[in-house]
Amino acid sequence: MVGLDKETRQMVLETIREYGRKHLPHAKLIELDSKNEFPVDIMKDLYDPNQVACNLIMIPTKYGGLGGNSYDIYRACEELARIDLGVCTSVFATFLGMDPIFVGGTEAQKEKWIKKIAESSCYVAYGATEAAAGSDLLHLKTKAERVMDGDKIVGYTLNGGKMWITNGGVAGVYTILARAPKGVSWFVIEKGTKGLSSDKHEDKHGIRLSDTTPVNLQDVFVPAENLIGEVEGKGLRQAQAVFGYTRLMVAAMALGAGWKAIEYAVRYSQQRKVGGQPLNTKQGFTHKLIVPFAARLEACRAYVEEVAHRIDGGEDGLQTEGAIAKMLASETGDAACNSAIQAFGGNGYVREFPVEKLKRDIKITCIYEGTTEILQLTTFRERWQANINAEGKFYDAIADEMTALNAKDPGVGAGAAATALRALSAALKACYEEKLTSNQIAHLKLGELMAFAETAAAFCRAAAKPELPESASFGRDAWRAMSRIHAAHTASWIASEGLELVAGCTAADASGLADTLDFKAVARAQKAAVADMDLVALELVRVFKEEEIAG
Ligand SMILES: Cc1cc2nc3c(=O)[nH]c(=O)nc-3n(C[C@H](O)[C@H](O)[C@H](O)COP(=O)(O)OP(=O)(O)OC[C@H]3O[C@@H](n4cnc5c(N)ncnc54)[C@H](O)[C@@H]3O)c2cc1C
Repeated sequence: MVGLDKETRQMVLETIREYGRKHLPHAKLIELDSKNEFPVDIMKDLYDPNQVACNLIMIPTKYGGLGGNSYDIYRACEELARIDLGVCTSVFATFLGMDPIFVGGTEAQKEKWIKKIAESSCYVAYGATEAAAGSDLLHLKTKAERVMDGDKIVGYTLNGGKMWITNGGVAGVYTILARAPKGVSWFVIEKGTKGLSSDKHEDKHGIRLSDTTPVNLQDVFVPAENLIGEVEGKGLRQAQAVFGYTRLMVAAMALGAGWKAIEYAVRYSQQRKVGGQPLNTKQGFTHKLIVPFAARLEACRAYVEEVAHRIDGGEDGLQTEGAIAKMLASETGDAACNSAIQAFGGNGYVREFPVEKLKRDIKITCIYEGTTEILQLTTFRERWQANINAEGKFYDAIADEMTALNAKDPGVGAGAAATALRALSAALKACYEEKLTSNQIAHLKLGELMAFAETAAAFCRAAAKPELPESASFGRDAWRAMSRIHAAHTASWIASEGLELVAGCTAADASGLADTLDFKAVARAQKAAVADMDLVALELVRVFKEEEIAG
């Protein structure tokens, strides 16, 4: 998909940025947060086609939208999340709510509903989760019973209840997943339909201004033409089909909030003096609390961009890639925000300073659109099978690619990435031979290690390109240093965690794996990692100059 041209994209991003600067300073956001209130006027501006028009970014031009592709939407989601994750979640939910129609709808349904959503600038709600069916949608209970006129199905009566629905109390259009006689299916329901109601806005830990409510369906009549795709039983496949793309967007949101926290911490560290010196001059402070998260978030960005370009190039599926991107970006963003609180000391723990709210907000990215654990399981299952299909050489093949890249360009950490990938391959082999995957913890841990390995490879590929990507905020030397830092850490993390996992899962002697894992190569991969961190710490200060932080 072609998407926006660079100039239009920059204009859209600058419009979002400018709106945030003018209307959503921290004082306003913390006020909305404490009131637990959906900001009607602000959201109206953001959806207004003559102002920010966020909702139109993902809608194709033929339905009245701007025609953005995955890359454009990733950039917009990150930009919105830098302002506020709650605001971003409300916009994202409108994208998400339209997805079942995009993926499974007939052309007539797209023409009707997507055009209507674009023209009316309404919010959309995506209703999948129920009280007893979140990660496990197979057990959803909302029922859609056929309404017949003779032999003809004229509609469905929906009964049930949805939980945690973003925009649940404010949406103009709902896409609802329900169990029809031939299987789980999506239905489009308009606001005001008899029997459709929402309960009160939840009192949440974070993203408090984002409207989240239960949605009730009591004898709701839905005409047959509102069954998405007009065939029953395709709902779960339609939901699955968009995970590659939707999870990439949540990864982008975690990049936005995680980087915002790092930016605040870097600016604050220049203003706060300890023993007469600014905090940013303390190497222990920067190298513990800031630089590792900066490097890992940039690795996630490289991965997000690689996958976005693949989706825009027409590749289908990529659900595993979406899972990897979301899992590592959300966990890293969450850790970055936590670390930013530590970097602010006592000031980090109070609401006047912005990192406290960022930390509460970002946690949701580890929960919705697939929890971290579910994504680790998804990644493990698919890559485990791919590795078996490749006769145990799936990650060795990427390691070979990294070795070749390192020969051409030794400055991006591709040698360390190759070491990491070979260590992962050795850990997988040990798990296979010793039949250790009867332990579910092995699935989760291997899923996590796969995400580290694949992001390290993606970062090396991106950093070896002659030009920096359009999204880059840093100089080339620092960006390449970040790639080396991530690759070096990934090599030692996979070797040590892989060994701990294998040894811990068996009563047998697992010391053979210690011989197979090349710890000498792991040690070589760490060479000058601290000097790289010195370089990155200086670059962060150059980019994020000292600034008075609200407080
Ligand atoms: C603010 C907010 C907004 C949301 N917006 C929407 C929305 O717009 N639309 C919508 O449909 N949903 C929405 N959700 C729901 C969200 O997607 C679910 O909460 C999420 O998928 C997790 O489901 P659950 O809450 O039922 O947790 P559970 O599935 O009960 O999981 C609980 C814990 O168990 C773990 N777990 C689950 N299964 C396994 C397993 N097999 N093995 C090991 N561990 C496991 C999970 O990782 C988690 O740690 C929202 C939720 C929140 C909080």
